[in-house]
Amino acid sequence: MSAPNNPYDPVAVSTLEPEAIDAMVAAALTAIQGAADLDSLKAVRLAHAGDRSPLSLANREIGALPPAAKAEAGKRVGSARHAVREALESRLVELEAERDARVLVEESVDVTLPTGRAVHGARHPLTTLMERMAEVFIAMGYEVAEGPEAEAEWFNFDALNVPPDHPARTMQDTFFVGSDRSGVVLRTQTSPIQLRAMLERELPIYVVAPGRVFRTDELDATHTPVFHQIEGLAVDEGITMAHLKGTLEHLAASMFGEGVRIRLRPSYFPFTEPSAELDLECFVCRGASVGNPEAPCRTCSSEGWIEWGGCGMVNPRVLRAAGIDTDRYSGFAFGMGVERTLMFRHGVTDMRDMVEGDARFSRAFGVEV
Ligand SMILES: [Zn+2]
Repeated sequence: MSAPNNPYDPVAVSTLEPEAIDAMVAAALTAIQGAADLDSLKAVRLAHAGDRSPLSLANREIGALPPAAKAEAGKRVGSARHAVREALESRLVELEAERDARVLVEESVDVTLPTGRAVHGARHPLTTLMERMAEVFIAMGYEVAEGPEAEAEWFNFDALNVPPDHPARTMQDTFFVGSDRSGVVLRTQTSPIQLRAMLERELPIYVVAPGRVFRTDELDATHTPVFHQIEGLAVDEGITMAHLKGTLEHLAASMFGEGVRIRLRPSYFPFTEPSAELDLECFVCRGASVGNPEAPCRTCSSEGWIEWGGCGMVNPRVLRAAGIDTDRYSGFAFGMGVERTLMFRHGVTDMRDMVEGDARFSRAFGVEV
């Protein structure tokens, strides 16, 4: 075709020659096919279809042609630009598909790779053990009782028959809230809960009181200023030492296995009369290490028994302080350290392991909910 050079048009516009247009299209198509990624294609689009691309500039030349030549040139340039646009679109679709496929591969997750998994904590073994001990009593019909950790000195000492000049009532042993004359202490035992239960509940009373207690001990392998006790109290008609012993035997069997024996040794506690130390038969050697240097036992120091807690019949003075008719009712009480029980039960030798809150210690006991 040679429309611009027809007899009515002496002006030749070289950029609108068919050969020139074909060359522009060919250059554009080569560049489009050569674009290896979306960024390159963007640059190619600007160079071959942008406002300053050869085809756009050629398009502007059309206006300078005589009217008879405009239609022919316009058609030629229009179809050239259309061809370039089509090529750009189809290359765009190809490159986008390639990119998506590459992203799928690059961002895929290898589920077999080891991960930097954060260590989740486990419930503390003291908590789970304390609950398990309480459950032994709940199964026997006891209720769980609670009380404040910041306790009136009267509940913590006076009402439990601890005289005002008792050494336990000094700042050597007891944390006072405010001054030592404030009348408020951090409870040194869970026994005040028992007294509160006697004051607040209807008779008969069967309660178990697990909780945190506080004493001014330095933290070392066998002491901690914050520890846990679990105490039990039964007040009913006709309660005797035999009921106490049977109850403790059941607890020992539940904690350390069927057949483990307990022993009560006469002792003194202000809260109970008579009072007894509660010993547990060594559940490791079962007494076989006593007088047998060939087979020493570390758990009981070859004594056959280990001290576990204290117990006794509730002192009638304490019952009367709670307004209970001691002609009709009697009661028993007992208590033991939860830390100590955990140490026996699981061979924990250092108290500090229990208070440091290291999840590796807790996880060894299993993750319980
Ligand atoms: Zn032993």
